[in-house]
Amino acid sequence: FAKLKQGLSRSTAKLTDSITGVFTKRKLDDAALEELEETLIAADLGVKASGRVVEGFRRTRFGREATDAEIKGALADEIAAILGPVAKPLVIDRALKPHVVLVVGVNGTGKTTTIAKLAEQYRADGMKVIMCAGDTFRAAAVEQLQVWGSRTGAEVVAPAKDGADAAGLAFDALSRARDVGADVLLVDTAGRLHNKTALMEELRKIVRVMKRQDAAVPHSVLLVLDATTGQNAVSQLRVFSEMVEVSGLVVTKLDGSAKGGVVVALAEEFGTPIHAVGVGETAADLRPFEARHFARALVG
Ligand code: GDP
Repeated sequence: FAKLKQGLSRSTAKLTDSITGVFTKRKLDDAALEELEETLIAADLGVKASGRVVEGFRRTRFGREATDAEIKGALADEIAAILGPVAKPLVIDRALKPHVVLVVGVNGTGKTTTIAKLAEQYRADGMKVIMCAGDTFRAAAVEQLQVWGSRTGAEVVAPAKDGADAAGLAFDALSRARDVGADVLLVDTAGRLHNKTALMEELRKIVRVMKRQDAAVPHSVLLVLDATTGQNAVSQLRVFSEMVEVSGLVVTKLDGSAKGGVVVALAEEFGTPIHAVGVGETAADLRPFEARHFARALVG
């Protein structure tokens, strides 16, 4: 929580300063509410969520004078109400052996790091974990996952050569995971968004080929979004949802982010479960997503 709060402090400082500016010297009239709405939009909460928060204020506090602390508390409550319904942990079903998690997202958002963090967590919980280095186009991504594998002790299924077929590799990784009775299989994927059609075909092929072994696979499709990209995260969720059935989100880089507000926009616009947030680069830096904590850290 401290790391998240510290990370969000930059956006928080901005948000709180503007809020303080909006509400000193006057009560909650139309002009103040309008300014609040603009402040929230500037903080990346999105038009819809900002509107909803302001409507909440209008209903409950219009015409009243309020102290800063009251305003902040009320703001945190409104934001927590939006985040509450999407705050859901990713629950691994250990009966599946393996629970297959396909991890998708644009390059650089933190997919590979998130896979390592999840592997670390599941192993700490006593599960057997296999990671599949499915971003076969980037030798660096494969190597990176192998390094994480040796650090976390999770087995890595990697391609024999660069540019190997990702779907074939995922198929092999699934066979391997079943053979050894793994609890979890985490499948990394490529994220070259500049070639959308090729990426969509690749992701769909991975899904199709794995389904030959088990029609219920993948059990979860995790989209990794980088909070520092602000509203781009919103459009990435839209684009990836057209390609695959995204079942949940991990939002990364909230430790250094000036854009934590986008998480509220994601929650309001899509309602997709948010499983966890990334707050750093080490395997220990993944936190469950908790609505109230997050809202409080965001508002400051
Ligand atoms: P991928 O291309 O999506 O697999 O992204 P990577 O996992 O390689 O991550 C890209 C960069 O972001 C790396 O330098 C990571 O260390 C960094 N990164 C990933 N998650 C976080 C996070 O939560 N916080 C911070 N500060 N950096 C992160």
